[in-house]
Amino acid sequence: AYENNFDFLTVVHTNDMHGRIMYNASNKEMGLAKISGLTNQARSKNPTLLIDLGDTFHGTNYVTMNKGQAAVDAMNALNYDAMVPGNHDFNYGQDRLLTLRDELHFPLISANIRKDGKPFLDKYTIIEKDGKKIALIGLTATDTAEKTNPAGIEGITFEDEVTVAKEMVAKLRKEVDVIAAISHSGLTTDKNIANEVEGIDVIFGGHSHDTIETPTKYKHAYVTQAFEYGKALGNTNIIFHKGQLIGVNGFLYRDSETKQEDPQVATLLQSYKEAIDKELNVVIANTSVHLDGDRRNVRTKETNLGNLITDAMRETLGTDIALTNGGGIRASIAAGDVTRNHVLTTLPFDNTLVRTTLTGEEVKAALEHSVRLYPEENGGFLHVSGLSFTFDPSKPAGNRVGEVLINGQPLEEATAYSVATNNFTAVGGDGFEMFKAENIEFDSGELLSTVLIEALQSSVSIPVVEGRIIAK
Ligand code: ATP
Repeated sequence: AYENNFDFLTVVHTNDMHGRIMYNASNKEMGLAKISGLTNQARSKNPTLLIDLGDTFHGTNYVTMNKGQAAVDAMNALNYDAMVPGNHDFNYGQDRLLTLRDELHFPLISANIRKDGKPFLDKYTIIEKDGKKIALIGLTATDTAEKTNPAGIEGITFEDEVTVAKEMVAKLRKEVDVIAAISHSGLTTDKNIANEVEGIDVIFGGHSHDTIETPTKYKHAYVTQAFEYGKALGNTNIIFHKGQLIGVNGFLYRDSETKQEDPQVATLLQSYKEAIDKELNVVIANTSVHLDGDRRNVRTKETNLGNLITDAMRETLGTDIALTNGGGIRASIAAGDVTRNHVLTTLPFDNTLVRTTLTGEEVKAALEHSVRLYPEENGGFLHVSGLSFTFDPSKPAGNRVGEVLINGQPLEEATAYSVATNNFTAVGGDGFEMFKAENIEFDSGELLSTVLIEALQSSVSIPVVEGRIIAK
């Protein structure tokens, strides 16, 4: 790899795969077999590292039905060098994440996660390649604390990424030739690190699903990120001249027919695919209309799917109202035959249906919390049943909600209402602090996906968007 005293270290990087391990031509998701092929190509040219920036083990049935195992096995086959966990890698709970960590043939690292005050994982790893020492420092988004089911992260805290990066650089700078942060912190934080932390050379990012076509230099470091779902694959070159790091460049691969699958990895994936597809492709219901679970819609407004799910939740438990977070609804369902696969892709979180209590005052506070970021997309945007309300987006957050009707009657602040919700919101997920774990009457153990399947199978017609949530 030497040309006129220049040499290159290539870093191939994936982020926010969300379980997209299989090739999916229509979504332009390359899948891990193509990613392996491209990585092997890079390895044949330069010394190469392969890293993953988190949100990997959860998101499609191919990984959720085996709690991340298929992704671990495939990543081992690709010979990844390191990974940082993202917020969604806690979706099966911290114990499961540690089990998966133990099965990886490469380090899972993060420097800013603490469990009962001690490091939860190894903070960093040092890799030697081509006579150079490269330190990789893991960083996980601090907002994991609010975005993840609180039950899965008990005792865990996330420390400020910039502060921790500074500490790590002070410790490692003299020992190594390159310091890279591998960060599931989002682009805004990555830019802050690049501007504030002297001594970091490059930041490989994830979490915000940003597309950076070629690494961008900020005050101290280069920043890059490769979109999502394996629709892009980062290929970043760290460039040395006479042994000194002089710059970083790179590009993103995208899918095309010329990209070949690594046959060994493809065979491994195929074995998972066949077993799971058999279970998933059974048609379980039919819908005459398109059910709207588009991320932009379910995180900002009422949709027919949000209404269908919350109506079914309320009816199943016989509560006054039902509330569920739009961020938990992850895909639309097209008109026509509905398979288990469609439903589980729409509701992938394994959330259970929970009955709890809120006072009228707390219901109102929850609605304020739901629309506080409007018109910005917000995973905590609530879909509602048994309830309708107006809000005024021109007013300051916390003071937007106008009239609230519960089953047609004005909300009474002092009244206790029974509420059907999911086990994520019920314990304060998405920052809904008015939902208190001690007020849970019971967790039905029934999956939201099962509740939706039953609603689709019943003769109940699909609710329309009827003005439950009105911005005015
Ligand atoms: P990424 O975009 O990489 O997935 P992110 O932090 O941006 O990471 P989002 O996709 O925005 O995550 O999803 C976050 C939202 O997902 C949360 O706001 C919440 O509404 C929902 N969510 C997360 N975990 C759960 C869960 N266990 N159950 C239900 N909803 C969840």
